[in-house]
Amino acid sequence: MTKKKYKIVYKRGDCIGAASCVGALPEYWSLNEDGKADIKDFTTPDGNKTQELIIEAELEDLEKHRHAAEVCPVNIIHIYDLETGEQIF
Ligand code: SF4
Repeated sequence: MTKKKYKIVYKRGDCIGAASCVGALPEYWSLNEDGKADIKDFTTPDGNKTQELIIEAELEDLEKHRHAAEVCPVNIIHIYDLETGEQIF
C-alpha cells in the first residue's frame, strides 16, 4: 500500500483536556501537566497555541488519526492532505 503525506493541525489553545484523543491514539497524543493534550513530536514553534505534525500514512493509519480527531468534543484536531491541500477532517 502506498503512503501519503498528511498534516495534522491541532488548536491546542482551545483544548479542554477531555483526553479522548489520548484514549483513541496514545501513540501520538498525551496529556500535559497543564491539562491540555500534546501531539507527539509537533513541529510548530509556538506549541502552546497550535501544534502541527506531518505524517506519512497508509489509509489504515490515516483512519486511526481521523478517529482521534473525530472523538475530540471541541473539534480542534484537523487533518489535511498535503498533496491536494484538501481538508479531509
Ligand atoms: S480530545 Fe480534544 S479537548 Fe480532549 S484532550 Fe484531546 S484535543 Fe483536548
